[in-house]
Amino acid sequence: MPRRQDQAARTAQSAALILLTVAIFAIDAFTRLDTAIAVMYIVVLMLASPIWSGRATRLLGAGCILLTLGAYLIAHGLHMVGSPAGRALVSIAAIAIATWLAVQRQEAMDGLRKRQDALRRSEAFLSGAQRLTRTGSFGVGVPDGAMVWSEEAARIFGYGPDVPASMDRVIERTLPEDRAAVRAAYARALACDGAIDFAHRLMLPGGAVRHVHVLAEASTDQDGDCEYLGAITDITERVEAEQQLHASQIQLAHAARVSMLGELAASVAHEVNQPMTAIVANAKAARRWLGRAEPDLPEALAALDGIVQASERAGQVIRRIRALARRADPEHRPLDVNALVQETLDLLQRELARLPLDLRVDLAPGLPEVVGDRVELQQVLINLVMNALQAMGAAGGPARLDVRTQLDGGTVRLAVRDSGPGIADSDSHRLFEPFFSTKADGMGLGLSICRSIITKHGGQIGARSTPPGSTFHIELPVLQEIHT
Ligand code: ADP
Repeated sequence: MPRRQDQAARTAQSAALILLTVAIFAIDAFTRLDTAIAVMYIVVLMLASPIWSGRATRLLGAGCILLTLGAYLIAHGLHMVGSPAGRALVSIAAIAIATWLAVQRQEAMDGLRKRQDALRRSEAFLSGAQRLTRTGSFGVGVPDGAMVWSEEAARIFGYGPDVPASMDRVIERTLPEDRAAVRAAYARALACDGAIDFAHRLMLPGGAVRHVHVLAEASTDQDGDCEYLGAITDITERVEAEQQLHASQIQLAHAARVSMLGELAASVAHEVNQPMTAIVANAKAARRWLGRAEPDLPEALAALDGIVQASERAGQVIRRIRALARRADPEHRPLDVNALVQETLDLLQRELARLPLDLRVDLAPGLPEVVGDRVELQQVLINLVMNALQAMGAAGGPARLDVRTQLDGGTVRLAVRDSGPGIADSDSHRLFEPFFSTKADGMGLGLSICRSIITKHGGQIGARSTPPGSTFHIELPVLQEIHT
């Protein structure tokens, strides 16, 4: 409807302009006014140029010149009459110049309109892209700290599109624990001090927590002053997915540990039984020493000490096995890899005794501690040793297992080398993939769980063929001493 009205108004205006042109011509041709009436065509041109196209304006200009000439011919014929001829020439020149200016103005206006359209379109694209990628943009002026932000940035902070940006508003929506980090980043921006790249959390009015990632770089504005331009991305979905993945990895590792304990039932029973047997033997001995006609108290006391020690050992064994079976969140503490290896081999005694095995344990003395979860790292080691035993058992022939620890720069290396069939080239890159197994009853999860545990510890795990057999190695970063 408005476009139609627009069109009708234009048609009326154009008709009025044509009438005006005809009127000017009539006055110019048929009256004897002593003025350059034809200059009035310029008014027509000025009024026409905003509503007519460039081509129509040029035609109008040419028409006005012809009408001026025509009026002169009607009034004076082909004679050059002094001042009327001069007026006509001046009018023609003025009309020509006015036409040129009007057309120039029109072209400039067209260019501006096109640029405005392009700008509007690119703004629409940008805001669409910002909505889709959940990324808002913002700017911070230095040193006044004045902020601007895009609609999407305002939305991420839980504000309406017209709410102006300010640091107070940002702080208001930042989780209290993260406010210091946000203020520090703002202070760095005000000092024009390098790029900003950090993540923090928001607390929206409904209580929802949002995770955002902020990236900003210093640039120079038109006056040569420093300003920060940046992007803020809502990464809540990604962070939540990572948290869920992490929780599932822990659950999976736990499930694998429990099923592993089932497989190790004989070893577990053996480990628990050993101190129990010692307790019974010591108790019997104590009884004997005390039951003599002349009780031998020192021997009886020694036997009782033996009972205490064996009970403590039994307690330790049960605690360790319970820890493997329990589902607890990993606890990262400083730990001694050599002790972990020894404990694991103790637990696996029965499994190791199934084969005629040449077991060589070479633990580097004075190894620095690493930071890790004892239960998870033990799970990795049990997996590697059990895999090695299974590989050697399946291959038959003499079995040799080397377990070594070593300090290598800032890392502790642990290697488990067996004399099994080794790793086929075609399998080497798939060993750590979930569900890759060459065993008839294998789940193919052991090594993939090992890798996720070691990666979480900031370390690396790898395997290579070392004929005869293969070597699996783990590297864990050494605990950094903090000197204050
Ligand atoms: P699973 O034991 O259920 O097969 P793993 O993830 O522990 O799952 O192992 C995946 C595969 O890696 C095994 O099926 C085997 O082919 C290979 N593998 C693991 N350890 C060894 C080893 N010491 N020697 C040769 N191959 C091995």
